[in-house]
Amino acid sequence: MTAFHTLDDVDVKGKRVLLRVDLNVPMEDGRVTDATRIERALPTINEIADKGGRVILLSHFGRPKGQRVDAESLRQVVPTLEHVLKRKIAFADDCVGDAVAQVVDALKDGEVALLENTRFHKGEEKNAADFVDALARNGDIFVSDAFSAAHRAHASTEGIAHRLPAYAGRAMQAELEALQSALANPQRPVMAIVGGAKVSTKLELLGNLVAKVDYLVIGGGMANTFLAAQGKPVGKSLCEHDLAGAARDILAKAETAGCKLVLPIDATVAQKFEAHAPSQIVSVDHVGENDMILDVGPKSVAHVETLLAKCKTLVWNGPFGAFELPPFNEGTNAVARCAARLTVEGKLLSIAGGGDTVAALNQAHVAQEFSYVSTAGGAFLEWLEGKTLPGVAALMQSSQR
Ligand code: AMP
Repeated sequence: MTAFHTLDDVDVKGKRVLLRVDLNVPMEDGRVTDATRIERALPTINEIADKGGRVILLSHFGRPKGQRVDAESLRQVVPTLEHVLKRKIAFADDCVGDAVAQVVDALKDGEVALLENTRFHKGEEKNAADFVDALARNGDIFVSDAFSAAHRAHASTEGIAHRLPAYAGRAMQAELEALQSALANPQRPVMAIVGGAKVSTKLELLGNLVAKVDYLVIGGGMANTFLAAQGKPVGKSLCEHDLAGAARDILAKAETAGCKLVLPIDATVAQKFEAHAPSQIVSVDHVGENDMILDVGPKSVAHVETLLAKCKTLVWNGPFGAFELPPFNEGTNAVARCAARLTVEGKLLSIAGGGDTVAALNQAHVAQEFSYVSTAGGAFLEWLEGKTLPGVAALMQSSQR
């Protein structure tokens, strides 16, 4: 396992701890509508505060593009943060300069402050050296707990980890350990399920996965492109016919790598893209010219379940069908329940993530039973693509110094 330092490696008592979290929460009419990201930051904030560290929270919020925009002030997150954390939060009107120095100087051991949106400064996204220095001035150490922002080489996610001793917070640690055990050094056989709308958004990801996993199961709209590339009829289904060549390249790459690429063998088809549209189950060889494939069929589900029962590790991104429209959620739900059961029985390590996947697993009521569900979106996908995430690389480098 690649090394990075954690909170187990530092005595935070009395130290000014610059803690990068992701407070970029969805808001409506000045109220936080989903506090999941705040809740994920809690264990690290509480641990540092309880150990007598002075917690100084850094985060971006929205896309103010280097300007002060009132609607994107982190001040509006303070009430929810205080409520969830059950602690008083001091707020600094800026993330660098005198405003911060005053708040930080007044902070006692075990207290928590939140600094204003890092993206109010152009230096944040540019990772500008003087801005990094200005941020670092307010801390003795840096703790990174925002995996969801780690794919950006910004001052508060990457630059600062080169200026101060840097550690992974508990959420970051959990994410990295889960991801490393899924692809870096997994227990085999490993299955990846990749579904979702389009091949075009996931070409790199597929290219990386075929070289790493034993079974690559393709579902969702993107499977149609593969079926069409094999000469199967897909009717009016979502399909990127222009990517037939790319699909065939991936099939060939899988064969060379010894990865079994698994496509649907049957499908649930309908003629309208809407919930409860009249539907039928057909073999993928018999999709009618007016049909739309909106989900995988029961034979495909049974096939995936049989393979999954042989696997020790599962990585999942993207639904098997148009899961927002019942009954076209049935394939996704059935495989999700199977993976959850194998996980609970201790037979499978199951890691899932990326936008709609979390929603699909929540809808199937199994997210809690998976070994790890990443809410990190873009960062999770980049990691699946095999990219080095700058915020993670900087943590690793810090542990070498
Ligand atoms: P993605 O963001 O690429 O993971 O795609 C998720 C979206 O793909 C969801 O909104 C699904 O409704 C959609 N999707 C999955 N399968 C199909 C399909 N067979 N036809 C149309 N849309 C689909």
